[in-house]
Amino acid sequence: MRPTTPYRPLDITIPFPELTAYARTATLLHPRRGTPTAADSSVGGPLLWPADEAWPVCGEAHGRARGVRPERARRYERIVEAAWARPRPADAVGPSYTAGEWVELDEMSDAAYQPDRHDGSPLPLLALAQFYARDVPDLAPFAPAGTDLLQVLWCPFTGHDDASAHDFGPSTRLIWRRTADVREALPEQPEPPIVERTQYLPTPCVLFPERVVDYPFADYLPKELDERIQAWEDAFTERAGDAAPLYQYDLSLAPGWKIGGWDSWHRTDLIRVYCGVCGTEMRLLLTIDSGGGAPSWRPYDEARASRSFSLHGPTGIRAARDEYRAFVCPTDPSHPHRMSSQ
Ligand SMILES: [Zn+2]
Ligand SMILES: [Zn+2]
Repeated sequence: MRPTTPYRPLDITIPFPELTAYARTATLLHPRRGTPTAADSSVGGPLLWPADEAWPVCGEAHGRARGVRPERARRYERIVEAAWARPRPADAVGPSYTAGEWVELDEMSDAAYQPDRHDGSPLPLLALAQFYARDVPDLAPFAPAGTDLLQVLWCPFTGHDDASAHDFGPSTRLIWRRTADVREALPEQPEPPIVERTQYLPTPCVLFPERVVDYPFADYLPKELDERIQAWEDAFTERAGDAAPLYQYDLSLAPGWKIGGWDSWHRTDLIRVYCGVCGTEMRLLLTIDSGGGAPSWRPYDEARASRSFSLHGPTGIRAARDEYRAFVCPTDPSHPHRMSSQ
């Protein structure tokens, strides 16, 4: 069943028509486990990479930090998910592991589940996602002229000292391409031999893009409008209690992996993001979601499959508490992007 976002409990532009001026479309990506190819938009799938172009590497030594080999992380995930998928009594609180699985998990949990060590050699970047413009309508306003594919890679280690990483998140690389230029695709893509955290390693997912409308985080609005929305919300809550929808969580900002739309600042106050080169206020391009969000947004397919289990949602990715976001310069796409987190 194709994931579909439920209608909002009410349309906020009816009580506040002036919000229409702030509406921005966003494409929710709805990643779901699958076997994408390089010809598909995906999270964690193979990238359409030219065979004659060098794969990017991160040259930082990362302090010979501890981490996990990808194959070990994937084995761990398979064990946990298989145990959750096994039939168990309705009142069981956790999964049921076999004796063999317990032994293997115990072994893996040694050294705080970071038994491997980075040897300091340059690390191939990890392919995180790619988005074809034909699948993701909200990519078009960001795409440099002639390009139709956005590829996202990252170094699966923290501790980079530049704006392409934020709050101890991984360092990211955004690459725009024209697919027609890729005459021969790289048959097998490189992967770093080690990642700092398993939640930086994506599980392959296909996408089910869906267009929604976002309204801004309240601090972006004129103070007077924000105050009227708050007063309306207070009055609604007084009448309806917990059933009252909230502007922030139910009526404005769609949670989840998305392209475009508005950025939430619910964990901090609003921090405006400006281009490091020209000073223009930057615009949200990509939201990398850690799973979560208000129940009213939960797509119909997830509500039905609620007893299945996956770490941090289908992608397995968690690069910040809630969201890890890429902002880009609206005046010149060649200006370096910046990351922020919530
Ligand atoms: Zn790195
Ligand atoms: Zn700029």
